[in-house]
Parts: sequence; C-alpha cells; structure tokens
Amino acid sequence: MRERIRITPRALAASIFLAMATSNSRAVELARSDSVLVLAPDKQVAEAVLQEASTFAEQASREWFGKELPENWRVLIQVKITSQPASGVTWQIDDPSRKYHRIWIDGSPGTIVGPVLQHEVLHSVTASLCGADFPAWADEGMACQYETHDSFLNRQRLLRRFAGSRDWPGLFNLFEARSLSKLDLSSYATATSVVEYLVARQGKKTFVQFVCDGRTLGWKEAIQAHYGLRNMEQLQLAWQGWAADQAGRSLPSTVNDAYYLPVLGRRDRPDTRVFVREPAAVVTLQ
Ligand SMILES: [Zn+2]
Repeated sequence: MRERIRITPRALAASIFLAMATSNSRAVELARSDSVLVLAPDKQVAEAVLQEASTFAEQASREWFGKELPENWRVLIQVKITSQPASGVTWQIDDPSRKYHRIWIDGSPGTIVGPVLQHEVLHSVTASLCGADFPAWADEGMACQYETHDSFLNRQRLLRRFAGSRDWPGLFNLFEARSLSKLDLSSYATATSVVEYLVARQGKKTFVQFVCDGRTLGWKEAIQAHYGLRNMEQLQLAWQGWAADQAGRSLPSTVNDAYYLPVLGRRDRPDTRVFVREPAAVVTLQ
C-alpha cells in the first residue's frame, strides 16, 4: 500500500528524532546504513530488515528500471513486533526529488522480513526513479509481484470469478485511475495480474518503459510500440485469455519457501516458517 503526504526532509529528520524519543520507554534497537535507518524492538530483526531492504532495493532498481539506486534514496523503516502476519504502509514524502520515504512494518518475527517489506521498499524505489505521477495501477501491480501466499490465493479466486462470469474489469479505467483504494480488491488483483502478464511477455524493464511511454505518449501508442498489439481492446482480450488460463490451473498444494521467504541468513530461525503457516486476516471471496 502506498500513501503520499507532504513532508519536507527537515520534517523527516524531526520524525526520526520523534520516533526515537517516543520510544524511550521501550527498548529500541537501531540498524543503519548510509541510505536506510531501521528502528525495531529487537537488534536481530533490525539488522535483518536493514539487510533485506538494502539488498532488495538495489536488486529491484536494476531489475525493473535498469538503473542503480539514486545515491540520495533514503528510507526510514519502523518495525513493530506483533503476533499477526506482516502488514505495511509506505509514506512517500512529497519532496520534489521523491527520495525520502518512511515505511511501517508490523508483524510477527517470522513475517517481518519477506514479501510485505519488499512490496513497501519497491514503492520507495519506484517513487525515487519515476516520480509522483507514475500510474497507481502499475505502482501497486509491480509491488504486488511480491506477495504472500494468501494474497496469491485470493487473487487467483478473483480471477477465476472474473473468468466464470465473463465480467472482467476494464483496463482503460484502471490505467487512468489516479489511485487505488486498499479496499478495492478487484483493482488490485487486476493490476497485479496485468503486470504479471506484461512482464511475462517482455520482461520487467520493457514493462516500466511501456508505463512511462503510456503516460506521456498515450496507451495505444505504447501498447503498439512495446507489445505489438493494436490497441487497449486487444490488450484487454489478450490479458483476459492469459489470466483465465492462469487462474484455471491447479493451485500449488505446498509453499515454496524460496519464493515466499527470500530471507537472507535467516533460514535457521525457528520461526522462519511461521509466515506460511499463519492464516492471514483476509477477506473471504464468494
Ligand atoms: Zn502497495
């Protein structure tokens, strides 16, 4: 999920101080690099979050955008340990350079470092490299490529429902939406599936270039240039056919740890598998 607020870099520094000051009554451990500052109640968790956020941001910047991370990319990550599966939110500070970000991650120790953290970190990377007007559907669709097993299952159910009813969301309205409501599961599922489809066709960097061209040249021109399709209607039909096929396939009965838990150096932690065993608080889809 992404939230945008207007905070100056000076306010960010103040918020860091405030976060540390207000946490004096509890133990707050700190891990930091030149770009990332992590505040967490546990030193090992703070270090793990720092390592994963830093490594993932560098990797995602190269994979999706074909660029190194901007040197002035900065993230403050506040971690809260709970008994629930991880959830997160990113505030992208509305500075013209879009380089300052604040991320909150709440969750059980075994779920803090995983796809939710990656999702939020990717939002910060996208904002830094593409600015404030990067389309919401693409931003969320990219971030949702890093998702929990429960999110994946819910998305597959929704896609099967679209296919069964032949009532598919329209891509044009999605592409033009200025934001996605976190309650709009249909738009999230559609955005995630469309990104997955287009990445499967031409890769991540081509997808990002398509989005950048789409917002400046127009979607029709970008669709023709990057995917060889005539227009939005043809893209809609091509995606629907692919998505119906994907959703109709049998779902995995076991979870691949390597996919859901790309946790660096934490495979020996006794709670590593908790992430995939805990039932997530998800909306039941009919
Ligand atoms: Zn998001």
